[in-house]
Amino acid sequence: MNEYDSNRIFDLTKKINYEPTKDLNEANCYILNTCHIREKATDKVYHDIGRLKKNFRNKPKPIVLIAGCVAQAEGNILLKNEKYIDAVLGPQSYHQINKTILKLEKKKSPINITEFDVIEKFDSLNSLKNTDNKVSSFLTIQEGCDKFCKFCVVPYTRGAEYSRSMKELVLETNQLVENGAKEIILLGQNVNAYNFEKSKLSDLILEISKIKDLKRIRYTTSHPKDFTRDLIDAHKNCEKLMPLIHLPVQSGSNKILEAMNRKHTVEEYLEILKKLIKVKPEIKFSSDFIIGYPGETNEDFKNTVKLLNQVGFINSYSFMFSPRPGTPAFDLPRLDHAEAKNRLIEFQLIAEDIKNSYRKKLINKTVNVLFENKMKTGDRYFGRDEHFNSVIVESDDNLVGTIRNVKIINGNQNTLYGEITSNLKQTNCAA
Ligand code: SAM
Ligand code: SF4
Repeated sequence: MNEYDSNRIFDLTKKINYEPTKDLNEANCYILNTCHIREKATDKVYHDIGRLKKNFRNKPKPIVLIAGCVAQAEGNILLKNEKYIDAVLGPQSYHQINKTILKLEKKKSPINITEFDVIEKFDSLNSLKNTDNKVSSFLTIQEGCDKFCKFCVVPYTRGAEYSRSMKELVLETNQLVENGAKEIILLGQNVNAYNFEKSKLSDLILEISKIKDLKRIRYTTSHPKDFTRDLIDAHKNCEKLMPLIHLPVQSGSNKILEAMNRKHTVEEYLEILKKLIKVKPEIKFSSDFIIGYPGETNEDFKNTVKLLNQVGFINSYSFMFSPRPGTPAFDLPRLDHAEAKNRLIEFQLIAEDIKNSYRKKLINKTVNVLFENKMKTGDRYFGRDEHFNSVIVESDDNLVGTIRNVKIINGNQNTLYGEITSNLKQTNCAA
């Protein structure tokens, strides 16, 4: 979502004649778009500003803005501790960036804009053409969260759930497709909580799937509680909807899920996966896990490992519990750090094994790859298969923006290598 926000910030600042630069040393305005989900986020800001100060020691100071969730959560502290920062802008206030920059061009005095102006923000963004021109483009459809998991800062930094209008989203998708997008990744902190005047995520998917030159649709991140029947059926009815679902479960222990306020059990989670496999047998899953949550016993941990093995997630993102100030879990008695770390290492080794054996089975198989860009070295092209695996092939033809059948020859943990076997038939959706 920060990538989407950063692109929109570029679109906004173009209006006041600012252009993105690849060379940091050339910048006369420096914007750091931050994430606050786990520890060390604020340290990273101070670290980056330290580097910036060094680079600009003998040059005029650029305007320095901190955007995103660290700005939202720690705006005043940042302004107080680091005088090099001119302004902080929360994730729901970045539409005010031009006003802020123009003010700072005239006079540098600290500015803090951290209101939750989400309606005003999207009104401003809707009137602005999205210039992102990637083959695979992000589109924020929903922001904020009303779920209040006890460990999570999102409801405090991004605010309450808000869904953008279907009409605006279809318009923006059309813009992105006109710019060359073949794949759209619909984004939201709880993307499947999308609800605009009774239109749900499945309605939006079916609507944008009618855009002829749009070939693939993905969405992330979903919450199990909002995984309704219509969304499951969309996977049956829409071929453009890719068969990889990122569905965070966090823990395989019902006791811990309850303590986290996740609002679902392991059994309910597995039931969703079962229904999805029934409508689309080739569907695969990835997930997020928090290891070492307060109160997690060895037995709870073993249950999480059991779930990992049972589902065979093709990608697992696991994090050690990170106490976030202001969240209810911050004050809970913490697990011994070394014990939590050992569990995380054990978990990640098993997750890697599962991933590796899945990837081994792909060797000599043919997958459909959408090519996103030419690589810097040689005639090599980077793309992703339907399950979001990175694939690289060599080719004399320009493959960017095309979907091809690729036979996988070999691979490592991060990348599969293959060769083109043929062009691919076009996919369509049942309306
Ligand atoms: N809304 C999504 C859901 O309900 O699962 C997740 C969004 S959250 C921005 C992304 C991931 O960060 C979570 O799935 C969780 O695994 C991880 N995360 C969030 N807060 C955390 C914390 N305090 N400590 C460790 N990991 C955390
Ligand atoms: Fe955070 Fe997701 Fe829970 Fe919302 S549902 S509080 S975004 S982890």
